[in-house]
Amino acid sequence: MDSEGVRRSMVERLRASGPLDARVLDAIAAVPRHLFVDAALVTQAYEDTSLPIGHGQTISKPSVVTRMIGVLMDGVTARAAGHLGKVLEVGTGCGYQAAVLCRLSRHVVSVERIKGLHDKARELVAPLRMDHLRLVYGDGMLGHPPNAPYDSIIAAACGSDVPEAWLEQLAVGGRLISPVLDAANKQRLVVVDRLEAGGFQRTEYEAVQFVPLKSGSI
Ligand code: SAH
Repeated sequence: MDSEGVRRSMVERLRASGPLDARVLDAIAAVPRHLFVDAALVTQAYEDTSLPIGHGQTISKPSVVTRMIGVLMDGVTARAAGHLGKVLEVGTGCGYQAAVLCRLSRHVVSVERIKGLHDKARELVAPLRMDHLRLVYGDGMLGHPPNAPYDSIIAAACGSDVPEAWLEQLAVGGRLISPVLDAANKQRLVVVDRLEAGGFQRTEYEAVQFVPLKSGSI
């Protein structure tokens, strides 16, 4: 498959779809999404859709990955640095979004609770030689204290609220983005900024569709 050509056309369609961060679109253009899906799904790899990756989980939609990382790039620290700094991703899945994050960060720690997916992601990212990516097997609801604090935290699974551990591990000036269930049980993107003046500021964004955030690891 002419992966570069189809990938470029996907990025052009995303670019035309609305205001998205050009730096994030460049990162999307550089990551071979077809390498992260099963052979049978390769022809769909550059459609703007989520696809099954096994264990009942999915690879996120490129437009949603672009949107969420774009919002992170607008946090106080990221805006000043021009990159995401040290990042915590909860929900590695196949490792696709982690690879995109790596192109915009200094260091990425990505946690996955399903061992089968963690192991597969390890194999998939190996050929991409991303020295500053650390894949961790465990319960991401607890964050990953050894590398805290994080300038940016991004979750790829939806819980009933933002876990306390993520707030504790967010650096001052840092930004977190996660899908969260609202009062009507609908998923919505939530951004939390840790203010330099102290405290947290929470902002709600558009409705989204993610797999559930679950505690424990399997
Ligand atoms: N980031 C992926 C999306 C994976 S789907 C991509 O690039 O497309 C979300 C993932 O979150 C699933 O693999 C699921 O197993 C994982 N997940 C759910 N709850 C979790 C938790 N508490 N800790 C770590 N991973 C979790």
